[in-house]
Amino acid sequence: MTTSDMDNLDTSSEADDWRTGDDVTVAEDPAARVDHIVKIYGSGDTEVVALDDVSVGFEKGRMTAIMGPSGSGKSTLLHCLAGLDTVTSGRVKIGDADLSELSDKELTVLRRDRVGFVFQSFNLVPTLTAERNITLQRRLGRHGVDTDWFDKVVDILEIRDRLDHRPSELSGGQQQRVAVARALINKPEIIIADEPTGNLDHNSGREVLEFLRRAVEEYRQTVVIVTHDAAAASYADRVVFLADGQLVGEINNPTTAAIFSRIQELEAQYARA
Ligand code: ADP
Repeated sequence: MTTSDMDNLDTSSEADDWRTGDDVTVAEDPAARVDHIVKIYGSGDTEVVALDDVSVGFEKGRMTAIMGPSGSGKSTLLHCLAGLDTVTSGRVKIGDADLSELSDKELTVLRRDRVGFVFQSFNLVPTLTAERNITLQRRLGRHGVDTDWFDKVVDILEIRDRLDHRPSELSGGQQQRVAVARALINKPEIIIADEPTGNLDHNSGREVLEFLRRAVEEYRQTVVIVTHDAAAASYADRVVFLADGQLVGEINNPTTAAIFSRIQELEAQYARA
């Protein structure tokens, strides 16, 4: 093995730009951010502190992956960020909107118009064609559909010949591409993706990640994904790590090997019974 091969395998802190929890970057003008959020489920003996004073910003036009051992608080952080769950204390902001200051109706409108969602289980409406699924939120919000942008999104995701099909007539990969198109069509301030490749085979998963990456690079889309897959996380510009409800560090411009070794360390250190 040559010296340069050795360098490529080096996953030490210096090599992968590891920063510890205290030094995690908070961008000046992020697309979204959480400040000192705490989320406690239950009370008394059954109390669980799912998030314990987490602060992190998600920069515009970048893709951030959230990783951590099972039970570390990833889903809770994503749900609080998306306004799908409330925090016990602290602040969540999408752009300049403080979610705790919004009424239920305002929050619904914000989620519909300013946030794009991609779920592990696709969550398409089974009775609607792919085209109607993609444009549903625009129609619900009584916004017109920008046909140029619709065409571009459909072509990027290579689903033009599937537009008349219902979800049951599509493969998993095609359904997830429709879901990504549905998220992109609004040009949302942020796309929040929860294990977007969790139900896909390797190749379909890679395709979906490549499309999300293109959206970041060509259209400055902001994307945040939760994943437990180091290869999926390596598509991100930055990976932030949670353990035991706390932010424990980040890697910028990560490689799969660097992410993999970090997550293994965290799993060994923080394994919950
Ligand atoms: P992850 O996504 O990293 O696996 P979660 O955010 O799902 O972690 O969970 C973090 C912690 O909060 C875990 O201990 C989990 O059991 C707990 N938790 C999550 N949701 C609930 C809930 N609805 N009620 C009680 N505890 C919960």
